[in-house]
Amino acid sequence: MHIHFLGAADTVTGSKHLVDTGSHRILLDCGLFQGYKNLRERNWSRLAVSARHIDTVVLSHAHLDHSGYLPALVKQGFHGRVFATPATCDLAEVLLLDSAHLQEEDARRANLYGYSKHTPAEPLYTVEDARRALNRLHPLPFGEEIELHPEVTVKYTPAGHLLGAAAVTLRCQGRTIVYSGDLGRHNDLLMPPPEPVHEADVLLVESTYGNRLHPADDVLKLLGDLIRTCLQRGGSVLMPTFAVGRAQALMLALHRLKRAGEIPAQVPIFLDSPMAAEATQLYERHQALLRVPPEEVAHLCDGVTLVDSPQASEALTRSHYPRIVLSASGMATGGRVLHHLKVMAPHPKNLIVFPGFQVGGSRGAKMIAGATEVKIHGEYVPVKAEVRHLEGFSGHADAGELMDWLRHFRKPPRHTYVVHGEPEAADALRTRIKEDLGWRVSVPDHLARIELD
Ligand SMILES: [Zn+2]
Repeated sequence: MHIHFLGAADTVTGSKHLVDTGSHRILLDCGLFQGYKNLRERNWSRLAVSARHIDTVVLSHAHLDHSGYLPALVKQGFHGRVFATPATCDLAEVLLLDSAHLQEEDARRANLYGYSKHTPAEPLYTVEDARRALNRLHPLPFGEEIELHPEVTVKYTPAGHLLGAAAVTLRCQGRTIVYSGDLGRHNDLLMPPPEPVHEADVLLVESTYGNRLHPADDVLKLLGDLIRTCLQRGGSVLMPTFAVGRAQALMLALHRLKRAGEIPAQVPIFLDSPMAAEATQLYERHQALLRVPPEEVAHLCDGVTLVDSPQASEALTRSHYPRIVLSASGMATGGRVLHHLKVMAPHPKNLIVFPGFQVGGSRGAKMIAGATEVKIHGEYVPVKAEVRHLEGFSGHADAGELMDWLRHFRKPPRHTYVVHGEPEAADALRTRIKEDLGWRVSVPDHLARIELD
């Protein structure tokens, strides 16, 4: 039996861990590489394992760095089942169709302006490929253990982090392999804390924030202060946000700030992301998974204008009155937020708040590092607005919270592999696990193939 690390093994995106029992091959997550160009190019190179030889895919959650390669896998001939929790199945539909649409748009634009190395430029996958991938989804509720193959079972445990997110337990030929997926926080606004897992022979643990602690400040108060100050000087607020997860947490935060009188009740709020609006409906449908009282979930969209059409979005960028705009993408790598950035970034009165993780190489990462200009649609845009990164809004456990989750294991796993982190974060968590817990632990290299005997 072996594990082949096909992604998220030296970086934070592209999660793909292949468990090969000799008779059955299970791919844990099927994510896209994102961020730096050399990483994104990995999406285009041939997978180290033939897609036809993979029997089953098990998704931890719907974020594209965990699910976004699935249509490409199906396009390459994968024809097995894909397991995901019911909420992940719903969110994956929204995310994968949108991702496919963006891939088609990129190819179309590359052909139009001739900036691709390939003629004609092809999308990584199409909407049709995404639909074929979605047809392979099988919902598996939390806590149910099912057989994938004689001697191989799978079970999900709630991981917080995102609606439907799960840690995965595989039992194969008497061994227990646990994969953390992405772990959430103790005090997330929307999601309950990750549930503990107690046993593993082999453990794969994420390390996005393996070298950092989230600031202890009251993030809601901080956001309220920043917004109030910006509005008082006559500015507007732009929050580039992930359409799924962070957008809903921010809407809840703004709702609570208005109710508490921390920000003016009459300030208009716009949700300029049709995908975020769709995802919000799924949060309402699966509200039993949230830590928020149902009556508050029902009021999530109160006072929020949903911006549907591209025309309405454009009209919003031309308006001059103070406003709060939530728009995707969360790392300002694409989407409608770019049009708002172009208009709002050059003015010192405005405030731009990045509430989520910013992967290296993204426009968001450059802006929070203090870039004085960013390139958008081929032109340089000066950044004179106040730019803030509110890490307290992250959906990821920090180093302390990761260690707390690990301490629930009743005895040390035979081996722990630290994945899903930038090299410094992964190595910092490896050191802590070794020194504080005394476990056998390592950080696998990209494409490492490790025997489990
Ligand atoms: Zn995630």
